[in-house]
Amino acid sequence: MTEVVRDLIILGSGPAGLTAALYASRASLRPLVVEGRQPGGQLTITTEVENYPGFPEGIQGPELMVRFKEQAARFGTEFIPGNASSVDLSRRPFRVGVEGAEPLGCRALIIATGASAMTLGLAGEDRLMGHGLSACATCDGFFFKGREVLVVGGGDSAMEEGTFLTRFATRVTIIHRRDRLRASRIMQERARRNPRMGFLWNTEVTALLGEERLTGVRLRDVTNGREREESTGGLFYAIGHRPNTAVFRGWLDMDEKGYLVVEDSTRTRVPGVFAAGDVRDARYRQAVSAAGLGCMAALDAERFLESGEGSP
Ligand code: NAP
Repeated sequence: MTEVVRDLIILGSGPAGLTAALYASRASLRPLVVEGRQPGGQLTITTEVENYPGFPEGIQGPELMVRFKEQAARFGTEFIPGNASSVDLSRRPFRVGVEGAEPLGCRALIIATGASAMTLGLAGEDRLMGHGLSACATCDGFFFKGREVLVVGGGDSAMEEGTFLTRFATRVTIIHRRDRLRASRIMQERARRNPRMGFLWNTEVTALLGEERLTGVRLRDVTNGREREESTGGLFYAIGHRPNTAVFRGWLDMDEKGYLVVEDSTRTRVPGVFAAGDVRDARYRQAVSAAGLGCMAALDAERFLESGEGSP
């Protein structure tokens, strides 16, 4: 079967992928964006975004991503739904398999498949996400001014997000499934010194309560199995993120958590393959930093294609 070969394919349609698409389409590369399992990325599961520059009144996450997409489409970006299910980076052009579509070929590839916040997998998560339940304190903390909130997790993220939340919430309780934190000592100490922070040890969240908004949680003491309900209007998950990189295993270098490793700016070890956004950035994980990396990846891909290296 003859595959259609493109100059550039971009995997992922969050801030990194769509900014890469904007830059690449303005450079007349006619990129194709494979939108992924969650078109628009993580911002589509938040409500108000108040820290994306240029929107002084704030903007709803889903609306912001619609605007990103419209801007990329305006300059000729094409989109296909679905997820990259396989890649072959040993041949040129590269081959990308997409669920439910013919295989695609490309001379350059930008990977912007993002990361997914891990969740507890409890009933009602989809319904309550953005309505009292959040996986992003930086995004949603402000809405909990003067209220009491719960944070699940015992790592650096839980300490950092919990500490951040004390700027707004009157009380932040960290719920951890063990009696010892995983977080680094310095982060632990900072959290423990904070008078607004408390800890609930050996405790798991077993159910989310509330229909339209979160109203409470069911908690289980793991030492004796006893369950009780606690009312709360705010629950933050801080149990880690998982980069969406399974399909690149064996082709590209990854760190021990599966984040893509870049060698120079956005370049991976395979010439012509670039990585942008949360898929390669476990540290900042902000829409604006992902967008910046998307811009950089597009400029790097453009230079790569101009150099003729991508031609078979
Ligand atoms: P992490 O280190 O993997 O910690 C995840 C925490 O969530 C652990 O305490 C874990 O409990 C808990 N957890 C995981 N699954 C759970 C479940 N199903 N139910 C209940 N609890 C669960 O993840 P992270 O805190 O996001 O940190 C990721 C990496 O980023 C780390 O290397 C960290 O040092 C780094 N980081 C650094 C900073 C900083 O330096 N400023 C800030 C944030 C993150 P257990 O402990 O029982 O496994």
